[in-house]
Amino acid sequence: MTTSTALLAVSDVTRRFGSLRAVDGLSFDVAAGEIVGLLGPNGSGKTTMMNLVSGALKPDAGTIRLAGHDIAGLPANRIACHGIARTFQLVRVLPSMNCLDNVKAGLGFGAQPTWGAAADSKAEALLERVGMAHRRLTLGKELTYMDQKRLELARALALQPRLLLLDEWLAGLNPSELVEAIELLRKVRGEGVTMVMVEHVMDAIRSLCDRCVIMNAGVKIAEGTPAEALAEPEVVRAYLGD
Ligand code: ADP
Repeated sequence: MTTSTALLAVSDVTRRFGSLRAVDGLSFDVAAGEIVGLLGPNGSGKTTMMNLVSGALKPDAGTIRLAGHDIAGLPANRIACHGIARTFQLVRVLPSMNCLDNVKAGLGFGAQPTWGAAADSKAEALLERVGMAHRRLTLGKELTYMDQKRLELARALALQPRLLLLDEWLAGLNPSELVEAIELLRKVRGEGVTMVMVEHVMDAIRSLCDRCVIMNAGVKIAEGTPAEALAEPEVVRAYLGD
């Protein structure tokens, strides 16, 4: 199912590694303003799908449209210019730079790269946006894990994304950090950023995601609200068999 109003429209996408179809004819849409969870047991093709959307991998077949433009197979830097940013499971904060400089390093890329004094004020605003204005001069290596996550989010937001891909961004947070992190993602969504998240933290999925796309062995086995999709018998079987 794809519609012309989708911000992201993935249609019949396949990616093989040798004889293995890691993603096998997958289609799903993401409407502007949604948070969509991409779920599935280990090895089901979620990371491959995120790599296809962000340009780290090229599909063997199918189309990936962002606001109507086919971005499938474009290099990652071109895709970033179309408005897709990504956070990674392992945080990639620059340890010997302070937070301001970490964010400024992210401002030199994307559709509207910024340097110099303009970058200073943009970086300050981005740190404020993720609740880290008070950490502006703290070095990356001195940050708590939660603050490293915030900083990584600020760096992704520096690209002014329309679509943010979150790769297990909530992994490793303790329960009170999780509450803060979920709140922060809701705020970012309220600022007009659509999200696709690969995530295993079920409480977060249930409270954050408008819809879930659930994969197994490269194909979609369910789609719908978290409550609907996670209750599908095939989903229950896929997870129990994991
Ligand atoms: P998930 O993120 O759901 O755990 P992946 O997308 O990482 O799943 O992997 C899907 C399948 O593709 C797995 O069987 C994995 O071993 C395989 N795979 C992923 N990347 C590669 C690669 N670069 N080369 C060969 N096989 C790969």
